[in-house]
Amino acid sequence: MRYLSLILLIVLFGCSESKVERPDAEQEASSPLIHSFADPSKAVVTHLNWNAHVDFDNQKIVATATYDMLVAADAERLKLDIRNLNIKAIRVDGAETKEWWIGPEKPFLGQELAIAITPESKQVSIDYETTEGAEALQWLNPQQTAGKEKPFLFTQSQAILARTWIPSQDSPGVRYTYEATVSVPKDLLAVMSASNPVQIDTTGVYTFQMNQPIPSYLMALSVGDLRFAEIGERTGVYAEPSILDAAAYEFEDMQKMLEAAEAIYGRYAWDRYDVLVLPPSFPFGGMENPRLTFATPTILAGDKSLTALVAHELAHSWSGNLVTNSTWNDFWLNEGFTVYFERRIMESVYGKDYANMLAILGKQDLDHTLVEFADTPDDTKLKLALDGRNPDDGMSDIAYEKGYLLLRTMEESVGREEFDAFLNKHFSDNAFKTIDTETFLENLKADLFGSSDEAYDALMVDQWVYEPGIPSNCVSVESPLFAQVENEMTKWLEGSPAMEIDSSNWTTHHWLHFLRRLPRDIQQDKMMELDRAFGFTSTGNSEIAAEWFVLSISVGYEAVNEEVEAFLISVGRRKFLVPIYRALIEAEPEMVRAKAIYQKARPNYHSVSTNTLDDMLQLN
Ligand SMILES: [Zn+2]
Repeated sequence: MRYLSLILLIVLFGCSESKVERPDAEQEASSPLIHSFADPSKAVVTHLNWNAHVDFDNQKIVATATYDMLVAADAERLKLDIRNLNIKAIRVDGAETKEWWIGPEKPFLGQELAIAITPESKQVSIDYETTEGAEALQWLNPQQTAGKEKPFLFTQSQAILARTWIPSQDSPGVRYTYEATVSVPKDLLAVMSASNPVQIDTTGVYTFQMNQPIPSYLMALSVGDLRFAEIGERTGVYAEPSILDAAAYEFEDMQKMLEAAEAIYGRYAWDRYDVLVLPPSFPFGGMENPRLTFATPTILAGDKSLTALVAHELAHSWSGNLVTNSTWNDFWLNEGFTVYFERRIMESVYGKDYANMLAILGKQDLDHTLVEFADTPDDTKLKLALDGRNPDDGMSDIAYEKGYLLLRTMEESVGREEFDAFLNKHFSDNAFKTIDTETFLENLKADLFGSSDEAYDALMVDQWVYEPGIPSNCVSVESPLFAQVENEMTKWLEGSPAMEIDSSNWTTHHWLHFLRRLPRDIQQDKMMELDRAFGFTSTGNSEIAAEWFVLSISVGYEAVNEEVEAFLISVGRRKFLVPIYRALIEAEPEMVRAKAIYQKARPNYHSVSTNTLDDMLQLN
């Protein structure tokens, strides 16, 4: 294979034997992008035509990627990011070339693929295959699906995993349109972050179109025994047949959410908004792949109580997908804005008290993270410094919840009307562009504070963004609903029976608050009484289950043991896995039980989760 012989050539002879000078270390380091080898100032991809065959038998994708480029007058190379890809042949404007090089492997970044071009070059085509090292891809056997009969594939590209299945200028700073033709087994449906089919085509060949430019981290593909159900005029859900009805019921309010979002920050720019419900190994709650959010089935609670996640992913259609953080150091511009917008949508559809419950639970998560990061305070700044680190390190509650609190503090200070006018302008001025923190702050000062330094400084914005922790002017959020939860809890702790806790109107959020506020030295008989009254150990609600399991493990309530193991083996959502494994490790530092469970569960997890858990369980 060319890939191997080239590396060998470099090792044996160095650069002098190559026909064209190999890109040297300085050139690699000179990429203006963080976490990418690309240099878009010389040659930038504007459109991708992806032709792929999904081979379930060998668990690989065999593809040709053809890139249209804009090339500078002094350009000599197109530089792309690849990681664990098998590159087979490359053509420039249709003619095969041997003048391409693969740079040295860098931890988590992978390798630079540099292809010689001229200022006149228009198009580059790459024939390649994915390998076992394609961390974005998760191949599931039928047993790991809801239907248990057919295999399944999904991708997760954020933050820098797109390069493990498509050679990419893999930085959020580069946007391109794409089209794709994908062939899959004839009884399966393929869907992408693009215009999508609504039923299985017996040819097994599907075509896709994404006419709005997107960054590579939003490239997404899923293949499985999928069906589609319409929800509203522009909204619908894809899921395996056995959970399609449950999913359609759970997401009934999606159309309402879409309309609520448009009423706040303007027209939805992506035509349709659909949700794909994946098997439980999906490592995140949701991923905002444009036109088609990928979601965990753990939000199918049966009572629509976990659909804030849909509001969140929908909100990304503005913050993130439309106006994108220019590097992962600016991640709060994606996530803080999205949490803020998510809660505005929830307020519109379900009311202010409901949205405030979400804000308070978010603040509790943030407080935990601040304690966890006590030794690395720099990671609690909104503007991160992830250069040389895995960008996944920055994906903490800081970007989400501290970012949210800054925006809410600003809203309450200037008033909602003015703040909305500012954000509307922000979204329309920057549509289909990327933005960094510094540019945003300049715009903020000019557009929200009339260029007044005093008004800007009074809100302590720089302190929020560039200093650790939470500034003193942070808004405090109150909830009468949670005050009622606390009252009921006090009565019970003082001896009134659990059955008399008045929980008739409680949602998942009320229960989460209740469980989080229980004293950490609670007695076994009290745990048993709660469990008998409310059936927490066997609840089908993943949020409540995860909270209850963590508490039970830490107080030694062993009645949960079997359920904990079953949960960890079936669910791959990192948000749940990390606190449960952490509780197991704290309860038993030798980690015998944690490791035994992990050994059984690990094959069901995506690399996003195993990368975190391998570290926690000291398998690296
Ligand atoms: Zn998000």
